[in-house]
Amino acid sequence: MNFDVVVIGAGHAGIEAAVASARMGARTAVITFSQDDIGTMSCNPAMGGLGKGHLIREIDAMGGIIGRASDLSGIQFRMLNKTRGEAVQGPRAQIDRNLYRTNCQKLLKNEKISFIYDEVINILTHRVSHKELISGVETSNSLKIKCSTIIVTTGTFLAGRIFCGKESWSAGRLGSRPALKLSRFFKDRGFSMLRLKTGTPPRIVGSSINYKKCVVQKGDKNPVPFSFLTKSISTDQVECYITHTNKSTHKIITENIGLSPLYDGKIDSKGPRYCPSIEDKVKRFKDRTRHQIFLEPETISGEIIYPNGISTSLPKHVQLKFVKSINGLENAIIDKFGYAIEYDCIDTTEINNSFETKKIKGLYLAGQINGTTGYEEAAAQGLLAGINAARQIQNKNKIVIHRSEGYLGVLTSDLCKAGLIEPYRMFTSRAEYRLFLRADNADERLTDIGIKVGTVKEKQKKKWLQKKNLIKTANKTLHSLKASPQTYKKFGLKINLDGKKRSAFEILGYPDSKWSILKSIWPQICELQLDSKTENQIQVNSFYSRYTQRQKSEIEDLRKDEGLLLDKGIKYKKCPGLSSEVRELLEKSNPRSIGEARALPGMTPAAAAILLRYVKK
Ligand code: FAD
Repeated sequence: MNFDVVVIGAGHAGIEAAVASARMGARTAVITFSQDDIGTMSCNPAMGGLGKGHLIREIDAMGGIIGRASDLSGIQFRMLNKTRGEAVQGPRAQIDRNLYRTNCQKLLKNEKISFIYDEVINILTHRVSHKELISGVETSNSLKIKCSTIIVTTGTFLAGRIFCGKESWSAGRLGSRPALKLSRFFKDRGFSMLRLKTGTPPRIVGSSINYKKCVVQKGDKNPVPFSFLTKSISTDQVECYITHTNKSTHKIITENIGLSPLYDGKIDSKGPRYCPSIEDKVKRFKDRTRHQIFLEPETISGEIIYPNGISTSLPKHVQLKFVKSINGLENAIIDKFGYAIEYDCIDTTEINNSFETKKIKGLYLAGQINGTTGYEEAAAQGLLAGINAARQIQNKNKIVIHRSEGYLGVLTSDLCKAGLIEPYRMFTSRAEYRLFLRADNADERLTDIGIKVGTVKEKQKKKWLQKKNLIKTANKTLHSLKASPQTYKKFGLKINLDGKKRSAFEILGYPDSKWSILKSIWPQICELQLDSKTENQIQVNSFYSRYTQRQKSEIEDLRKDEGLLLDKGIKYKKCPGLSSEVRELLEKSNPRSIGEARALPGMTPAAAAILLRYVKK
């Protein structure tokens, strides 16, 4: 009962934190209420999407398990934004939640992690001169477990309270106890805290749905896996369906809105802006006559369906009534009713960019406890906190991923440089360098960092180094082969006949270019023996190279400017071109530097550029 790192919680943040620290050689234990909690998806049975899918690829590139577990459990894969450029495409999959839990537990068996099933009720500390350091944890079974670092990943459990109509009770999520004593610990230690909320829809028995009245939504014919280690998807794939609310649904909701705890004053905390409840949507968007609902199977059998889009905390009888007013759901049987949950979060001004708290050395926070929403955001923080806790044990400098290196960096700087006021969710629009931060090149950006810190296992390392060498050799060859525009034109390429020789690498990025054309001009390219995935990656790299070169120099310029200090008395009201929302944000947050101002949630890259120009002037 003596560990280097103790992780509290075995959700998405906890799993990645434990895997990272154990791989780095730290003696790691996970304490969680029960074995069933390991890999439980609290709400929607889906992984990925825009921004979120990028995070999964990046975690996977650094050795995390969320991508592998999703590939093993995915029952419908779709690449979102497929018709648009790779930079804004997001891999997403419908997940069998039972399979996901089982697969997480299987994958964890390959790691050196001790699991303890208990509730942590207190964090024990001691003082060395002025510093407060971690000594261990105390559990509800009166265990005292010694450790040097702790990563708290308790999700929605801190003083969690569920609401469904007039009913309300303490819980971490449906069917789970809340963590009341641990919440007390943070309050007693003077941590700045806030209360947030989220919600979930009623679950419907699949056989009670008339799918003939719904629109089918098929997955991709050739599912693209999340993980760089997965060769192909072997789980059976299913169909999802789409239906809509209608005027009658909206009438029922409007007539009963006063019965929702969101509107009768019981809940006044902030919920996720991009995942509002159905009562919120009906009230806020009065002119909309319908809202889309995705009917997503929770498991491959389709026994229980998750109606994505109608999260609610209305009373049970109202839920039943409005669900039955929806096309295809007239005879719906509800398996579990929807609810809202309010929970304590720690204000992110309490942590630094290694996810360690500023008050207590060795105490790290990751996941929903930091005010984020979503499995992917939680897993990303878990990975980074796990790495940094293990590095603390090794007396090594903390690792911080920069915004220009990955969505992991965007998330870190958005969270740690400013206090959140509402649940945070990742989007591609949050990343100013999104042409470079693509899902397809996550390994090129991050696997070497994973190898350096020790989170990438031998098999992945070998695979990546082989690919890296192939890409390096191919790039060298492709850059060295040059031909005139006339040569390329002969092979059907639309090209400016300016007499300028262009390299095979440059040509590969032209919209109508093909590897077969290059191979016809230079048969030696066949000797590179590239597989189709690597060929595709080099082609995408070539396409974006024109833009990423420009971005790279911008990144350098902005890096230089990041340290530029902002005068405390700066009058943001006088800065022309800023929206009133951004002005308010800057006045409230009082950032110390351009870098901090840029990283504020809600601060767009364009606004940062205006501010920089103003300050320089
Ligand atoms: P969790 O996955 O919640 O894991 C917390 C872990 O901590 C659990 O294993 C628990 O057993 C353990 N634990 C807690 N306290 C203690 C203690 N004192 N001692 C020991 N173990 C403890 N996300 C979305 O992206 N979209 C949604 O629509 C959405 N809706 C949601 C609706 C509801 C009702 C809930 C509950 C969550 C919803 N989420 C949604 C959020 C999503 O579930 C979380 O973002 C994600 O699970 C957070 O991961 P985590 O690792 O931080 O915490």
